[in-house]
Amino acid sequence: MKILKFGGTSVGSATSIKNVSSIISSIEGEKIVVLSAMSGVTNKLVELCLFFKDGNSDQFHIIINELKIKHENLLDELISSSENNENTKTDLNTHFTILEEILKRDYSEIAEAKILTFGETILTMIFSKYLEFIDFQNTLLDAKKFMVVANLEFPDTEKVGRLLKPLLKNTSSDALYITQGFVRIDKFNKISTLKRGGSDFSATILGAAINATEIQIWTDINGFHNNDPRYVENTHAIKELSFEEAAELAYFGAKILHPQTVSPVIEKNIPIYLKNTFTPEEDGTRISSEVTSHGLKAISAKDGITAIKIKSNRMLMAHGFLRKIFEVFDLHETAIDMITTSEIAISLTIDDTRNLDAILNDLESYGEITVETDHSIICIVGEGLIDEKNTANLFEILKDIPVRMISYGGSINNVSLLVSTQNKIRTLQELHIKLFENRNEPVLF
Ligand code: ADP
Ligand code: ASP
Ligand code: MG
Repeated sequence: MKILKFGGTSVGSATSIKNVSSIISSIEGEKIVVLSAMSGVTNKLVELCLFFKDGNSDQFHIIINELKIKHENLLDELISSSENNENTKTDLNTHFTILEEILKRDYSEIAEAKILTFGETILTMIFSKYLEFIDFQNTLLDAKKFMVVANLEFPDTEKVGRLLKPLLKNTSSDALYITQGFVRIDKFNKISTLKRGGSDFSATILGAAINATEIQIWTDINGFHNNDPRYVENTHAIKELSFEEAAELAYFGAKILHPQTVSPVIEKNIPIYLKNTFTPEEDGTRISSEVTSHGLKAISAKDGITAIKIKSNRMLMAHGFLRKIFEVFDLHETAIDMITTSEIAISLTIDDTRNLDAILNDLESYGEITVETDHSIICIVGEGLIDEKNTANLFEILKDIPVRMISYGGSINNVSLLVSTQNKIRTLQELHIKLFENRNEPVLF
């Protein structure tokens, strides 16, 4: 069984969806196809939820109408036979009626999750009907029946497998299943999401759950690039990444993958292929345990970082002090990303500031605390990176850009810098020139 995930832009129009169906038909064997919502739809649903929370029904009705027209137009372009078209439109209307019913009631987190995942719900339904219309036999699976993910950090993929396997009833060697990405059932048995961009994570959870042979993530770019193509010119697709390299880059902000995409499949050693829906003939990127090339691979950036400095004269190197500091973060269930220490101070970073006030309150007794928001971690990744002689060039960045923290040597595969977010793009661009362009021998992609 293969898992094929198609992201928002891959299913953003009738033409793209027709292209997706021809890609699926060209891939042999049993497949589960995981779809996102059409591009832009989840953003609209996020807006809708804000209006819903504020009780602004005029505004949310405008959004509902927009979404309805968008999906009806899609359906008209995909399904021309009047009978099939009418039947599918009836189903679509039923979904919209359910949405309207939710919006008549009070706001709740469950209502919000139902709304946010509505784009996936209706698109998978339309896609499945379209395939049926072109005689492409398929089974639509409701992800809420099996995507039980109580703990987002450690999904119980065995449980997902136990729930999913009985639903895979088609015995044909090229059985095709369609399901929704992004949605999950949480530890209270209620609908929730895998967070924004979560359909990639859906794909790898499913892959691990059923021991898939491979996972293909189809998107709008020809693989994992060596820097963020939204901010940096002359980036290249990388042919191969190790699981660890890809996990690090995704966690540290590379938008092409949801931060947790890689972890479910590492133990089972299931390769992930990143492919471009619009140029399927290109190689893309293979993420696996068998990586032959070493050295510098890529740079990524994660925003929304808060730096906390604890300065104390009585302190740091006294044994037990760091433990007490870390216990505060543990108590408030907040992960630390970067740490640097000196004799009298420790600086560390977090991205989840939900419990920041309580953390600061608890830290106060240990010394003088300084908090700086709006920072970005720049992450430079590659197997054996710090042994490479060109890596030293990265320190030239210190001449041009104020760097708040550097983490070097924690692993030989990674160096991280903390800069103010206003300097992020400049840092990415300058590092690209220093590390990829001004080097003695080219990086092999
Ligand atoms: P999808 O809708 O298919 O999930 P996303 O928009 O989430 O697609 O991810 C693809 C986008 O990620 C690309 O179009 C590109 O702009 C952006 N991106 C950021 N960093 C990278 C990178 N290192 N390599 C490739 N794409 C990247
Ligand atoms: N549709 C969801 C989002 O936009 C999930 C995804 O696309 O991966 O966040
Ligand atoms: Mg995405």
